[in-house]
Amino acid sequence: TQNLEYRGPRLIFYRPSTLQQLLKLKAQHPEARLIVGNTEVGVEVKYKNKLYPVLINPSNIHDLTAVKRLDSGLQIGASVTLSKIGQILREEIKERKEHQTRIFTAILEMLKWFAGKQIRNVAAIGGNIMTGSPISDLNPLLMAARATLTFCSKERGERKLLMDENFFTGYRKTIALNDEILLYVHIPYTSMDEYMYSYKQSRRRGDDVAIVNAGMKVIFRKENDAVQDIVLAFGGMGPTIVMATNTMKELTGMSWNSSLLERGLSLLLEDLPLSPSAPGGMTEYRRALALSFFFKYYLNVLRQLS
Ligand code: FAD
Repeated sequence: TQNLEYRGPRLIFYRPSTLQQLLKLKAQHPEARLIVGNTEVGVEVKYKNKLYPVLINPSNIHDLTAVKRLDSGLQIGASVTLSKIGQILREEIKERKEHQTRIFTAILEMLKWFAGKQIRNVAAIGGNIMTGSPISDLNPLLMAARATLTFCSKERGERKLLMDENFFTGYRKTIALNDEILLYVHIPYTSMDEYMYSYKQSRRRGDDVAIVNAGMKVIFRKENDAVQDIVLAFGGMGPTIVMATNTMKELTGMSWNSSLLERGLSLLLEDLPLSPSAPGGMTEYRRALALSFFFKYYLNVLRQLS
């Protein structure tokens, strides 16, 4: 396909056709926005008076639009749309063993409540991750899934980053550098001893942003059913997606019983401090939601174990 370049009085729009051209453009214009669905940038420009003089559309670059089935999981290009991801996850769930696709089932469940069909048909996974919204519906799940992100820049080439508690550095900020672009997201398959669920509460059931959402995943040790690793990631509980790292540490090694539940409930809110003046308000309600998601998660896993 052909490269495109439109120059207007206030902005330049590029549509490169190779990854090299894209990286070169991003190196030349580190402040440029990549636009795929334009459902974040469009809102910023129209309603928040933002002006982005350089826009780059990466939709013609194969690396970013491809999905690869690897032995370890799925590698999803950053420009793959949410509808396409939904379709691929459904195929994977049909074809693979139930336990392998538990993360995919949790993501698919969340996609039902992610915006409406029109948005999901154009919006991409990369735009959701890189916007870094504190109420993103996918980011808590990708963190719980221990997804890995591959970034690339012209200067330094590729680097892989685990989506852990260090990835979001502030309100709508990530540790990615300005000249880097997100290439793909790696979502691993789950093992027999791994359980993941997603939760979202919003004012309306469909097509509404979350008040609080969460992604939670636990892996049990094979020998004695104790928790080997647990990830509890919440949206809507601070300026970024928050991982309840202390609670995660304290619950590791425990068995899945009422003591774990009580310990989790008493520790969680220390990991999710929300001052009464926090933007978004409803702090008591949001705290109650975070605890009730953990309670639900406890019950969901218990049911699987019994
Ligand atoms: P774009 O607007 O095209 O880009 C967003 C940002 O990501 C830009 O800053 C861009 O530079 C950056 N970016 C994109 N790709 C890359 C890349 N490869 N490398 C580096 N940076 C990149 N979000 C939710 O989480 N849940 C919802 O329920 C929800 N509902 C919505 C409802 C409506 C009506 C609207 C308008 C938005 C909603 N959103 C929701 C937000 C939005 O749809 C998602 O965040 C979406 O995934 C953004 O994708 P996009 O392709 O449209 O991003």
